Amino acid sequence: MNQKPDKDAPYKVSRKEIRALIDRYRVTDGKKFRLKDHDPGDTGGHQMSKGQAQDLLETGTATLAAHQEKLYAQDRWSMLCVFQAMDAAGKDGTIKHVMSGVNPQGVQVTSFKAPGPEDLDHDFLWRIWRALPERGRIGIFNRSHYEEVLVVRVHPKILDKQRLPTELVGKRIWKERLESIAAMEEYLARQGTVILKFFLHLSKDEQKKRFLARLDEPEKNWKFSASDLAERAYWDDYMTAYEETIAATATPEAPWFVVPADNKWFTRLVVVAAMNEALNRLDLAFPEVTNEQRAALAAARTKLESEH
Ligand code: ATP
Ligand code: MG
Repeated sequence: MNQKPDKDAPYKVSRKEIRALIDRYRVTDGKKFRLKDHDPGDTGGHQMSKGQAQDLLETGTATLAAHQEKLYAQDRWSMLCVFQAMDAAGKDGTIKHVMSGVNPQGVQVTSFKAPGPEDLDHDFLWRIWRALPERGRIGIFNRSHYEEVLVVRVHPKILDKQRLPTELVGKRIWKERLESIAAMEEYLARQGTVILKFFLHLSKDEQKKRFLARLDEPEKNWKFSASDLAERAYWDDYMTAYEETIAATATPEAPWFVVPADNKWFTRLVVVAAMNEALNRLDLAFPEVTNEQRAALAAARTKLESEH
């Protein structure tokens, strides 16, 4: 018998190693946060074949599905996962793969595009409140309130459209917005929302490769947008904005995960592991059946069985 090549053997990774990985990318205190300390190509020392990564991802999504059922049944906590990234970092693919096993009824995905007229008639968090997950549910934000301190900061012209009273628009506006966001998240955490924020950290080189692939491969052409290329020209401004944003809003109750995004298989594994770890900490359980309920169940059985 031929021995199986190594790449087909299951890739073994212990719980301890998984926890170490999550700790490696979790930011809970912005004081010393520097983006340059984070390598987009990092894989935490792990190398595996596509098939091995796929198997691990499946294990992760199955665990997530099991947690989600309990979250839903218990109906107390909710979980909000925010995804932010430069174009082509893999937000959509990560969301698709990580959530693939979860009951769609327990998940609410919202993609935040440029605000429309109704949004612009309100404060910037208005549309965010409306999209928050109900108790027992997982809310996924594909882009989020953070655009207000990222794209709006990089292109201050967008701010003009928001029609804020001029005396409220000064140098401090970004610091103030970051404070408002942090305050909102603290409040939500106190209300039982578990908040995880993922920055899919892509390198500029890898973005170029992915844009070129979108141009080269006909089936990827639809993904290419000239405006993505225009935003690439502001790369450094975005990186500065991300760094200040993460530094100002990373807290233990609403941590950022700076997830290396140059290797898609790795990004997905880290995201699913971080979600599972956060849910695991909640000690979720199906609601206990009380004696009264047990008696009602027995009565229901008797009634059903007496039917003819
Ligand atoms: P994505 O680029 O996230 O994959 P998409 O290509 O399907 O999404 P786009 O039309 O590019 O959709 O919509 C996202 C755009 O909306 C981004 O350029 C983003 O910066 C912008 N956007 C999101 N929120 C805001 C906001 N609050 N203010 C201004 N622009 C915003
Ligand atoms: Mg886009």
